[in-house]
Amino acid sequence: MNRKHKTYGHFFMMVIALVLAAVGTSAVYQIARNRPPIAYGNLSPEAIARFKKQMSKSGEKGALFTIDQLNLAQWDNENDLGAQDSAGWSKIEDNNFIIYYKDDMQGVWKQKAKITLKLVNEAIPQMKEIFGSYTYPKDINNRKLPIYLPPTRSQYGQTINLLRNEPVDAESSLGITIYKVSQSGFLPLGIVIRNDVFDADNFQNSLVVVATHELTHYVYGSLFQFSDKLIPKNWVTEGIADYTAGRSPQVQGSDSINFINNYCDLLNDFPIEHGNFVDNQYWAGESFFDFVEEKYGKETVSKFIQTTYTTPIDSVILAVFPNSNNIHKEWVEAISKNAEPQSSISANN
Ligand SMILES: [Zn+2]
Repeated sequence: MNRKHKTYGHFFMMVIALVLAAVGTSAVYQIARNRPPIAYGNLSPEAIARFKKQMSKSGEKGALFTIDQLNLAQWDNENDLGAQDSAGWSKIEDNNFIIYYKDDMQGVWKQKAKITLKLVNEAIPQMKEIFGSYTYPKDINNRKLPIYLPPTRSQYGQTINLLRNEPVDAESSLGITIYKVSQSGFLPLGIVIRNDVFDADNFQNSLVVVATHELTHYVYGSLFQFSDKLIPKNWVTEGIADYTAGRSPQVQGSDSINFINNYCDLLNDFPIEHGNFVDNQYWAGESFFDFVEEKYGKETVSKFIQTTYTTPIDSVILAVFPNSNNIHKEWVEAISKNAEPQSSISANN
């Protein structure tokens, strides 16, 4: 073989290698795309225990971490709590959701189920805008998202406990999103909405706010890449949920500004309770995203959230605010400017 042929030979081999590399990359990409949205591997029981502890310390009650391998049948809606005859649930459904409710003679709860179904579907475009995508049944082993509307306060508590399979004190909440995170993927067990949001006398506790807040937890939970090193911060989870739902608590009064200045460290969970301040991950978390929207725009809020799926919070802040020396200080300055002397409002779900 002369020199020229050899050169062509090398060139040819290189082309083959490039083609193979491209095929290889696209094969990996396909596998990643087709797996359930969350799948983390090789977690030890110790890591799971640490997850559970950290999540419960942060105030999170809906996320269940399990070391068990789940089987595909567990995503089947036939296994929903409401699909069991003995439970006495009726349902309406479409391509994305199943709303479970308890029938009554006047059809009052069927009507509430219809309103809920309409509201959650209408929230999907907004979810796509903030989270970059919406998690449809096709993305999640064809599971439709169950939403439960128990008609009484005590049935609200019972439904949560049945879905969680262990008791939890969540009755003070207005809604909850319960999901399992396992090595087999993300499995939403369902959203439960408390009966009194249907006749709330203020917007902050109304169905549209609570349903959107909970749907946010579903989408964020499904996109977040839980790993041994990556657990969502409580103020990001609850703050973005209230921001998306438009709950809009005003941070008012120097006390709440001082509280944010002194205790709301963006690199950590916010303290759930501190002195007179409670549920701080909600109102202070939303305050941060309201500030980001006002100063940097909605796209920056989306970029921030989408970066948290795969990146620890300190790196998120560096990546999203490369020109800021101190984003926490900018936040405190912004709320100081807007402040009026009244107490802050908080709500919890
Ligand atoms: Zn929440």
